[in-house]
Amino acid sequence: MQSPTQASLLKVDDITMAFGGIVAVDKLSLTVKAGEILALMGPNGAGKTTTFHVIAGVHMPNSGTITFDGQDITRLRPDGRCRAGIGRTFQITQPFAELTVVENVMVGALPHHRTMAEARAEARRYVDMVGLGGRADVLAKGLSTGQRKRLEMARAMATRPKLLLLDEVTGGVDMKSLPGIIELVKKLRDEGLTLIIIEHNMKAITELADRAIFMNRGVRMAEGTPAEIASHPEVIELYLGEGDAHA
Ligand code: ATP
Repeated sequence: MQSPTQASLLKVDDITMAFGGIVAVDKLSLTVKAGEILALMGPNGAGKTTTFHVIAGVHMPNSGTITFDGQDITRLRPDGRCRAGIGRTFQITQPFAELTVVENVMVGALPHHRTMAEARAEARRYVDMVGLGGRADVLAKGLSTGQRKRLEMARAMATRPKLLLLDEVTGGVDMKSLPGIIELVKKLRDEGLTLIIIEHNMKAITELADRAIFMNRGVRMAEGTPAEIASHPEVIELYLGEGDAHA
């Protein structure tokens, strides 16, 4: 018999999340298998970030359940979910500006170690992994947007997640830096991570995602391979009908 882990690492079942009268996520269900990259797409206000918040435990849903690694985590707080193996990055990067790159990553690594030196050594490995080895000792406030995105990923890796939620890691990144960020996400997958990515960039979605879900007004409108989703009329209008705005 298949264990729950083999069947799906994450199962979001019939989740609704409302803020007053605004239903941000409306009876949403999704599953993510171990080792998979799932992309969440949709226009502004579609409910993508709220879905991340509900999975990470920032918001308790009004109804529905979330099962992770065979455990019902619906009522678990964010720190419990982090310990269970759910890591995340934020759309707006928020490093500790006055700490160095490696110190920022140490914050995530500290709970796993008894000494600062051990935490620093592990943090340094993630800093190298994301390609910031040459910037390890500079203050985080001195980083470019692309470098901040890499730092976010290193910080999340330091919490040792099984599932990583990446919120627009290509957002605000210039065309020159985009291939490097895409390669980095592939590297995280190759490290054995399962990923859900909120992504607007079709090139990134096509290169990275095994599956994509297109949301609008809190509802799942379509699900399929990136190629299948790209032929959905609303997706064409939103992503492909705007010249190279998201290309
Ligand atoms: P974007 O691409 O702009 O980040 P999104 O798809 O991530 O959009 P959400 O941020 O999840 O969308 O927002 C979905 C809806 O829920 C929006 O109408 C938003 O205004 C509303 N919303 C989200 N968070 C809150 C909150 N804390 N309080 C009230 N309304 C909220």
